[in-house]
Order: sequence, then structure tokens, then C-alpha cells
Amino acid sequence: MSVEVCTRAEEFRLRCRQLREEGRSLGFVPTMGALHVGHRALMKTARQRCDALAVSIFVNPTQFSPGEDFDRYPRPLEEDLSACAEEGARLVFVPDTGEMYSRGAATKVSVSGLTERLCGASRPGHFDGVALVVTKLLSLAGPCRAVFGRKDYQQLQVIRRLVADLMLPTEIVEQPIERDADGLATSSRNRYLSAAERRVALAIPRALATAARVFEQGERDPAALLAAAGTVLGAGPLRLEYLELLGALDLSPWAQPVASGAAGLFVAARCGATRLIDNFVFGVDEPPRVEPG
Ligand code: AMP
Repeated sequence: MSVEVCTRAEEFRLRCRQLREEGRSLGFVPTMGALHVGHRALMKTARQRCDALAVSIFVNPTQFSPGEDFDRYPRPLEEDLSACAEEGARLVFVPDTGEMYSRGAATKVSVSGLTERLCGASRPGHFDGVALVVTKLLSLAGPCRAVFGRKDYQQLQVIRRLVADLMLPTEIVEQPIERDADGLATSSRNRYLSAAERRVALAIPRALATAARVFEQGERDPAALLAAAGTVLGAGPLRLEYLELLGALDLSPWAQPVASGAAGLFVAARCGATRLIDNFVFGVDEPPRVEPG
């Protein structure tokens, strides 16, 4: 199986336009590559919801801060192209940095409010980089629908806001979090983890599962739900970056009783040198299934 690869932005724009002019609804899945079952789930959804699928693979430098893992981010291009072909993609856009960022570029795309907390606070400039590249990619592909994962929950809300505010003609479709059998959310960065680190990392889904169970038992007090997760995370050697219970729609502090769908737990932690994120919206998401520690 093979798939058509575009490295030039104008070529990608043209091929996407041709697919749309053939009367095909175009689904789009932007990624940074090192594709795993989470990305494949996005592609499957796009295939179900649209006639043709385009994928992009671009490790976007503007969303990394100095000292982060941009240089060592995995780039297994041949494997990724096979995965795209297996999932039925028609086009894969694989630009280099020069193609996406021309000299002299001076435009910023910045979403305020939603980006103040969580990863926005711990990775300054990250969401400006995400907003800029997603605006460019949506502008090039012009898809009917673009699929994003709830794994990057804050990013998903930022993109929803951006698309609404800029009146972009793309429907944003969201995909539940895919997890491996041990409960860890699949991530390109899981490749960095040793077997021992991976066992330590399982405290993250375990903490979310514990809070989910307490919620299922009827607890609605946000402080108690937060404490249920915090106790699990605090017990292990993970370095917690944040654990917050926030409103699910606008990611603002949440102090009221937690109704289904109203609020979620958001966590980022470092396991060795690897930064991992995860989240759980009460009453909406499937609780992670993970062995007790
Ligand atoms: P990335 O390649 O990490 O930039 O991710 C590309 C897209 O895949 C984003 O919309 C992510 O939210 C989504 N994604 C990554 N991991 C998962 C996962 N485990 N479950 C669902 N979606 C995911």
C-alpha cells in the first residue's frame, strides 16, 4: 500500500482542493508523527466521517520551548507513512520547517483565556505555536472536518475557540483518549520511557481512575475528588507539574459540586526526562482501566 506524499505547501493545497472538487468531503488529521493507536483512531474517525483523508506530519518547532525535546522527538517517517496508508489516507503532508515558516514571517495567532493555565502556564508560548501551525494547516487543507484528540484536552479547546473566532469553515471532531492495555494514554513520548519508568507513569491513569471511582460512588465535592487523585500521585516518584480540577468548557477554576460533564481533572508530570499529560472529564470519559499499584 502506498500513499501520496506532499512536501510543498502549495502542492498540498492544490491536491486537497482537487479532492474537494471531485465532490469528496475531506477529513484532516494533523500530527507530529511517531504515529500510534491514538493517531490511528483519529484517522479511522476521519475516514468514517469523510470520503477522503489527509494527514500532516510536522514536528512544529514553534510549539517547543528552548530545552524541550524538539531535537530528539522521534521521526520514524517510513513507519508513519505505512500507518497512514493502512488507515486509508489519500494524502500525507510532510513539510520541512522552511516550508512552513518563511523568512520574515511576522504574524502571530494567540488565543487568550483558555491558554493561561495548565500547559499554557508550564510551557510559555506553546499554544501560540500550536495556534499558528493549526491555522496554517487548516488554511492549506481546507477540510470539511478535522479530528483532534481529547488526550490534548486544552489544545482541543484552544482549537475550537480559534476556529470559531476566525470563522474557519472546518468542523472540529473530537476523539476519546486511546490507552494501552496497562492504562497509560498512548503518546509518541511513551517511546522515551524505560520499562521501570513506565510502571511509575501508571500512577497517572491510576490517579484518574481513583477519582473516577470516588465520583461514581457519589462524591461531588471538587476538593475531595482532587484529593483522591492527589493521594495516588503524591505516593510515587513522579514529579508532578500540575494536577488541577477545572471547568470542562473554559478550563477555569471549579469550586461547585461536580456534575457530569461539568469539570475534569488535568495532570502533567515528569517521569525521568519525559513529560506526560492526561485528563479525565467526570461523567463523560471512560475511566482508565489500570491495575492497583
Ligand atoms: P501529536 O502528534 O502528539 O501532536 O498529536 C496529534 C493528534 O493526536 C492530537 O489531536 C492529539 O490530541 C491526538 N492524540 C495523541 N495521542 C492520543 C491518544 N492517546 N488518544 C487520542 N488522541 C490522541
